Amino acid sequence: MRVRAVVILAVCLAMLAPRAGGAQGSDARTPGMRSAPISDVRYAVTFRAANGVERAVDVRMTFTVGGWEPVLLSLPVWTPGAYEVSNYARNVSRFRADAGGKSLRWDKYAPDTWRIFAGNARDVTVSFRYRADSLDNAFTWARDQFALLNGTNLFLYPEGRSPDYASTVSIETEDGWRVATGMTQAARGTWTAPSYHELVDHPFFVGSFDMDSALVSGVWFRLSAYPAGSMTAAQRARLLDQLARAVPTEVAVFRDNPWKRYEVMQIADSGFGGMSALEHENSNVAIVGAGLLDEDFVPSVYAHEIFHAFNVKRLRPSEMWPYRYDAAQPTPWLWVSEGITDYYADLALVRGGVTSAAAFLATTQGKIDHVNQTAPIGLEDASLQTWLHMTDGTSDIYYDKGSLAGLALDIRIRDASDNAASLDDVLRALYDADYRHGRGFTGAEWWGAVSRAARSAGFGDFEEKFVDGREAFPWAAWLARAGWRLRSDTLREPRLGVQIAQDSAGVRVTFVDPAGVAAATGIEAGDVITRVDGIPTSDPAWQGWRKKFATREGAPLPITLLRGGRPVLLTATVRLATMITGRVEADPNATEKAKRIRDGILRGQTGK
Ligand SMILES: [Zn+2]
Repeated sequence: MRVRAVVILAVCLAMLAPRAGGAQGSDARTPGMRSAPISDVRYAVTFRAANGVERAVDVRMTFTVGGWEPVLLSLPVWTPGAYEVSNYARNVSRFRADAGGKSLRWDKYAPDTWRIFAGNARDVTVSFRYRADSLDNAFTWARDQFALLNGTNLFLYPEGRSPDYASTVSIETEDGWRVATGMTQAARGTWTAPSYHELVDHPFFVGSFDMDSALVSGVWFRLSAYPAGSMTAAQRARLLDQLARAVPTEVAVFRDNPWKRYEVMQIADSGFGGMSALEHENSNVAIVGAGLLDEDFVPSVYAHEIFHAFNVKRLRPSEMWPYRYDAAQPTPWLWVSEGITDYYADLALVRGGVTSAAAFLATTQGKIDHVNQTAPIGLEDASLQTWLHMTDGTSDIYYDKGSLAGLALDIRIRDASDNAASLDDVLRALYDADYRHGRGFTGAEWWGAVSRAARSAGFGDFEEKFVDGREAFPWAAWLARAGWRLRSDTLREPRLGVQIAQDSAGVRVTFVDPAGVAAATGIEAGDVITRVDGIPTSDPAWQGWRKKFATREGAPLPITLLRGGRPVLLTATVRLATMITGRVEADPNATEKAKRIRDGILRGQTGK
C-alpha cells in the first residue's frame, strides 16, 4: 500500500490523501466454528448497466455440501496490504440461500458469518447484493460503466476449513465491456484460482476503460486506465516506459521474475486528492487524482507496488504467513515490508534512470524532514499500531522512517563489507530461504541475514536504539560513509499546527496540534477551511499567506471555514515557529571507499 499526497507545506506537517470507508473494529469470533465441508465452489459476479446506476453488484456462490451440519460462510474483515479492519459484511443485503428451487433457512452465526441449514440439500446457491459506492482500492466500487471488484469483499469462505480449495469466478456483464484481472482465465468469462488466498488476491476491472501493453523485464505488463480517455496516449506510453526502466532493477534484487504477466489497474478520479495504491502478486490497483497524472510521485507509487510483488506478497513477516481474514494481523515488521519497499521504489527510479541522483537525494531529504517533524516513535511500535489509524501524526511514519532505516542498513552493510554486499543480499537471502520454502521470515532470520551480509558485524545496537527504541538517526555519521553530507538550514515561518487533507469537498482539517495556533483559535478536526486571508482554498494562491506573514508575528489572520455545513469566521494570531530543514548532498571530500558505496547504492552495484 502507498498513499501519496500533494504536500501543501503552507499549513500542514504532513498530509494524507482521503480514505473512503475504513472503519476500526475487532472481530470477536466464536471459537471452534467449523462449517460442513463444501466442494465444487463457483462464484459469479454480475455487473450490468443497471448495477452501475444502483451502485451495487450481485454475487452468487454455488457449491456442493459434504456433510449434515450447517454450512458456515464468512466474509473477510480486511484486505491484505490495507492494514485496516473494514468489516466488508456490512455492505451485504438481500442475502439468501436456495437449493432445488426452494429457499433454505439461514441466520447470522457471527457478525460476518452466515449459517445455512442445508438439511438434505447437496447443491446450494447463496446470493446477495453488495453495495459498491466507496472509492478505495480495497473496496468494491461501481460507476455507470465501470466496476472495481475486490474478492475480499465478495467471496465467502467456509469457516474452519482449509483455504486451499480451488474455485472459479464468472463475470456476467454487458456485451462489449472489458474485464481486466491478473487471475488465470479458464474459459470465456470465467477465471480460476487454486486457493482462497489466490482468489482474493486478483481484483477485477469490469466495464469500459483503456488498455495498453508493453514488455517489461521480458513480461507483458498491461495498463488498464479508467475512465477511458483519462490518460492521453502519451501519458500511457510514458508510464509504461518508466516501468520498463525501473522494474528490471527490482527484478535484479531478487534475481527472480515471478510473473507470467502483470496488470497495472488505475482509476483516475477528480475527487481524489492524492494517490493511493494496493499491491497484489501480479497486479496492483491505484487511485489517483485526475489532475495529478504527471506528478513525480506516480512512477514512484507504481515502483513501490511492483516491489511489493516480492517484498510482502511473497517474502513477508511470519506473523502474516499465512494471511488470515477473520481479524487484524499485526506485525512489528511493516517498516521492512512497507518502508524498505519504499526505499527500493526510490532506488528503482534512480537506478533505472527515471529520476536523477539529485531527485533521489531530495526524496531522501523529504523523508528525513518528515521523521524530524513527527513525534519520536520506534519502528516496531509504528508498525504494530498502524491498524488503529493513530491520530498523533505517526500513523504512516513507518513508511518514511522504515525507508530511511533501509538506507542506513544498506550503508552499514556496504561499509562493513567494503561494498562487497548490500541490502539486496539480505532481501534475496530471505526470499530464497523463506518465501521459496513456503514460510514467513522471523526477526532472528532478518538480523541473521543482515549480519551475514555485513561480514558478521553486530546489529544489536541498531535494533535496540533505532528499531525497538526511539533514538534519532545519526545522519551525519551514517551519510559520511556513503559520501553524502547533510546541510541544515534554520528558518522561522508561520505555522497553524494542523494536518489537512484536500479533496473535492475542500481543505479538511484532520488533526489539530493542541499546542498550536489553530487550537488556540478554535479550529477543530473535521472543519473544512474555505478561505485563508480572504483567498479561497480552491485557488492555489491561498498558500501564499505564509510568505506574506513571514515576518508579521502577532498579526491577525482571518480564516473562514465550514463546520457542520455552516460558515464560521475565526481570526488566528500569527505565530512564527523555528523549522530546521536540511539538504542531503554529495560530499566533495568523500573517501574513495565512500564514493564506491555511494555509486553502488545509486547504480545497484557491489564490488570495487
Ligand atoms: Zn506499500
